[in-house]
This record gives sequence, C-alpha cells and structure tokens, in this order.
Amino acid sequence: KYRRELQLRKKCHNELVRLKGNIRVFGRVRPITAEDGEGPEAANSVTFDPDDDAILHLMHKGKQVSFELDKVFSPQATQQDVFQEVQALITSCIDGYNVCIFAYGQTGAGKTYTMEGTPENPGINQRALQLLFSEVQRKASDWSYTITVSVAEIYNEALRDLLGKEPQEKLDIKLCPDGSGQLYVPGLTEFQVQSVEDINKVFEFGHSNRVTEYTSLNEHSSRSHALLIVTVRGLDYSTGLRTTGKLNLVDLAGSERVGRSGAEGSRLREAQYINKSLSALGDVIYALRARQGHVPFRNSKLTYLLQDSLSGDSKTLMMVQVSPVEKNTSETLCSLKFAERVRSVELGPVSRRAELVSWSSQEHLEVTNQPCLAAQP
Ligand code: ADP
Ligand code: MG
Repeated sequence: KYRRELQLRKKCHNELVRLKGNIRVFGRVRPITAEDGEGPEAANSVTFDPDDDAILHLMHKGKQVSFELDKVFSPQATQQDVFQEVQALITSCIDGYNVCIFAYGQTGAGKTYTMEGTPENPGINQRALQLLFSEVQRKASDWSYTITVSVAEIYNEALRDLLGKEPQEKLDIKLCPDGSGQLYVPGLTEFQVQSVEDINKVFEFGHSNRVTEYTSLNEHSSRSHALLIVTVRGLDYSTGLRTTGKLNLVDLAGSERVGRSGAEGSRLREAQYINKSLSALGDVIYALRARQGHVPFRNSKLTYLLQDSLSGDSKTLMMVQVSPVEKNTSETLCSLKFAERVRSVELGPVSRRAELVSWSSQEHLEVTNQPCLAAQP
C-alpha cells in the first residue's frame, strides 16, 4: 500500500511538472468599477483573444501590445474559475510539496480580491483552506493530518507576526537546524485550524493587528506584503511516513513606482523597500529559471522567508493582476512585461542568455521606471 501511494504521488508530481513547469504565470484582469470614474481615462484598454486564453492585448498610446502568459482570466472569470486552475497546486502540499502563490500588480488591480476576496466571494486563501480540509478528511482513514496557519506581513523589510500578542515585534528568519533546508521563524505564531469558522477567526484577528499608523488598511496594504502561511503535516498510521508541505499565499505590495516623483521621508523609504523586495523576487525567480548556481535569496526578507518554497521541488504561481482602464496602461505594461519576462526565461537557451545579461535589480527598477522602454509593438 505504501509503495502504491508513493508511486501515485510521484506520478502526480511528474505530471504537474511536465504539464506546467515549476513556475507558472497567470494574468487576471479586473472589471471596470465605479471608482475608475468616467471619460476617456476610464475607457477599456484590454482585449482578449477568443481562440487562445493565454493571450491578452493592451492598447497603449495608440498601439496594440500583445502578451502571452500561461493563462489569462477576463473580468468575467469568477473566483471559482480562478480557483479551479490553482487547486492541483494547492493539494500538492498535502503530499509534502511547498507551494507559493503570489498576487502581483499595481494598487487597485485586484490582488487582495484574488487572494482574500470578499465575504460573499472569498478568494484563494479561504478556498485553499476549505479544499485542504476536505481532502484531508477524504484521506482520514489512512492518514492523520494537522493544518496550521500563520499570518504575517513584511513592511519596510521587517517581518511582523500578525497573530502574535505583540504584532509590532520584528522577527528573524532562520534555517532549521535539522539540515532539511526548511526555514522557520522563531516566535511566529501558528494556529491549528479545522473549520471555516477557525479560518475566519484567524483572518479577523490578523486584520485587527494589521492596521498601524495608517489611516486606512488599504493604504497600508499597498505598501506591505501580506503572507498567509499554511503548513500541512501528515502521518501515515500504517507506515509511520511523515510529510510536511507548506503553502505560501502572498498578497504583494503594490508594484507601482511610488517613489518616482516627489516622495520624501517615510514614503520614499517605503518605496525603496518595496522596489528592493519586488526586484529581489524577480532576480530569484529568474535565477531559478535559468538554473543559475547562485540564487540571491537573501537579498530581501520576502525571498529569504520563501526560500524553501521557491526552490527544489516547490511550485510557484504568479498571478499578475491587471487594471483594464486607460489611465493605468503604463503600470499595466510594466506588470505584464515583468510577468512575461519571468515566464519567458523558460523558453530556451538563447533567450536565457539574453536575459542573463540584462536582468539585475537595478535593471528591473530601470525598466519599470520607464515603461515605454519596454513597450514592443
Ligand atoms: P489591490 O489589492 O491590488 O490593491 P483590490 O483587490 O483591493 O486591489 O481591488 C480594487 C477594487 O476592485 C476592489 O474594490 C475590489 O473589490 C475590486 N475588484 C478587483 N478585482 C475584482 C474582480 N475580479 N471582480 C470584481 N471586483 C473586483
Ligand atoms: Mg490590496
């Protein structure tokens, strides 16, 4: 029985990798809302290919720019449609794999909607936990599982535990001494969860700890990375086999160039930290894709914390969030360029080498600062 289980698991894993590679990039375009206003600035600038759900077209300065990702969700796509496409990734953490899902994009593009969603329309975070509960239940005759969650944020390169008694305390990240390559954060609170009620309690508590000196949570969340870390530990009764899988669900800080004009003091500092960690993430994903010997995980708290979920057997999905309106096309272009670069590194030795030369933290900042540089009709 044990051997069959292992064989099956390996087969599923190979299938996933064969189908998708280790890093996937999805795009999601949010609908136009009342907040976008009226007039030409709020006009739609994004169209889709009716025959290919991986293609998206953006009208920018009178020219059409096309992008190819692994999959693109139009504004009509429901939370369930999106979840459908990520559930295989999520359940693989039951088998002991580490998984990372990021939402990337400018503020207002739908990152929090995709990850957290609304009470009526929950996003990936809640759906993921619900799916894990039911999968674990299904296997309960052979396996015993515990599911725990941690909620944290990274703000100005400081990691904060949002479920702790002292939310403002800054935590360190350490490598587990057991040589497994797993990371752990001494002092980071883990709550065991078993039901939707448990999850809601945990999320609420995390939220209440998140609001700090900011007037609005929205403002703060656009400048910090929000992390939901789910750990699934399994034990096979009959064989004694143990598994540990981690699922990291990350709502990244807004990718817009906050510091471009006139930011001073704390705003400027925030902007620099965000730029630093988002470009560090790009560098790491790139280095992994290019199979470089050295992967610069330690260049930011974000990449260091996610080190064990971005390398080896782990699976990563970047969800690039897109605003469809005219006034945001410059930022949209930056986001999609970033997405396509992350994805395109896979395509072959020639483009790899070309990317190698041009990709560095500095370069990333440069390119995203000057979106029009990147625009190729
Ligand atoms: P971000 O987290 O990237 O700053 P939000 O998730 O807060 O952006 O989205 C901005 C606004 O757009 C919110 O009011 C949100 O409810 C709405 N929104 C985003 N994506 C969708 C969607 N797919 N369907 C409906 N409303 C959406
Ligand atoms: Mg948000």
